[in-house]
Amino acid sequence: MNNKTSIAIVGAGIVGATTAFYLSAAGHAVTIYDEGTGQATSAAAGIICPWLSQRRNKQWYQLAAAGAAFYPTLLHDLNEDISHSAIYRQVGTLVFKKTPKLLTKLEKIALNRRERAPEIGELSILSPAEIKAKLPLLETEQSALFASGGARVDGALLTKKLVNAAVSNGADYFAEKAQLTVSPSGTYTIATPTHTKSFSAVVLATGAWLPEILQPLGFSVDIRPQKGQLIHLEVEQETENWPVVMPDGEKDMIPFPNGRIVIGATHENDEGYDLTPTEEKLTVMLKEAAELAPSLAKATIKETRVGTRAFTSDFAPFFGEIPESPGLYVASGLGSSGLTSGPIIGRILTQLILNEPTDLPVSDYPVARYIQKNELEVKQ
Ligand SMILES: Cc1cc2nc3c(=O)[nH]c(=O)nc-3n(C[C@H](O)[C@H](O)[C@H](O)COP(=O)(O)OP(=O)(O)OC[C@H]3O[C@@H](n4cnc5c(N)ncnc54)[C@H](O)[C@@H]3O)c2cc1C
Repeated sequence: MNNKTSIAIVGAGIVGATTAFYLSAAGHAVTIYDEGTGQATSAAAGIICPWLSQRRNKQWYQLAAAGAAFYPTLLHDLNEDISHSAIYRQVGTLVFKKTPKLLTKLEKIALNRRERAPEIGELSILSPAEIKAKLPLLETEQSALFASGGARVDGALLTKKLVNAAVSNGADYFAEKAQLTVSPSGTYTIATPTHTKSFSAVVLATGAWLPEILQPLGFSVDIRPQKGQLIHLEVEQETENWPVVMPDGEKDMIPFPNGRIVIGATHENDEGYDLTPTEEKLTVMLKEAAELAPSLAKATIKETRVGTRAFTSDFAPFFGEIPESPGLYVASGLGSSGLTSGPIIGRILTQLILNEPTDLPVSDYPVARYIQKNELEVKQ
């Protein structure tokens, strides 16, 4: 693809915003469309710590680890001072396990992984007193594994910065819903409520809404939505340097600057695209958080957020060009770890469009496995 192609990017969550940033920096005429409703990125908890996951899928781990390692480069490219950034900070992660034996097993896995992923940083098993010194709200009798390279990221702030930088590079931005059509000659047209524009290439970074935008073009997409709710609390202490806490369960605790602590998130598979916060789920999350940090029961609830994650049926993400549609690029299925893998996916989509070597082999994340042209369309 030549260097001054006009490209539409639909969806400005972490994938679309990163792609827009790098493509606009490379001199392309970029137009961004983002409707915004239900966006996973701006609801996300913000944990960047793939190395301590016990998920066994090698391609997933390779992507998530490369994604975590890529963050400092992204921040640098955005001219963001990594040691003082409100967007991203390596505050370390504390991981709890049910038994000391399981904790030692996790430490071994982490030590092993550190040989290829030095970003994981220092590893140590901390006593309850050492844990309290790092995060004074925690009241526990248990030990935890501390990884100093674990980070927190503010997804909403990061995408805002990426989109603003893309706009400074000359990109157009429309906070509108986009519909895509393709002409017999292969020209792509995007229509919104206010205008219509044609492009030689399109990136669909629409997260859980990829089936909706591809369905009119005759494609079936293996993506289902998962609802995630979380709570933003406010405490009086200064939380800026507190580590991320991952208890043995799915409710994590992510401290951000200025007394903000995020608790969450839920993983709800039967709620479709619903975005309503539910009292019952929020109460359970608060109760679980207060078991580890009792004073959180009295903290002020500042807001609740709800977002929609995108999952494939085998939980693996995919990205690249749709084989039947040259110039039409997609990424979806990032699931629960898309804040970690999203930036590297955006970078790889840019490399594909620029015909550059890719940071990871795209054949490990094949689009064709999850997107199929409907039989009726193929026969026409
Ligand atoms: C509650 C919660 C907590 C999470 N916590 C973490 C975490 O701690 N760590 C981690 O690594 N990951 C986490 N994730 C996962 C991560 O947030 C997602 O995997 C990732 O943000 C997905 O990014 P995306 O760009 O693919 O999609 P999204 O961020 O969902 O962006 C897609 C965008 O496309 C827009 N769009 C869709 N269709 C159209 C259209 N036709 N026209 C215009 N715009 C359109 C949507 O409105 C949306 O803004 C969490 C997710 C949730 C929901």
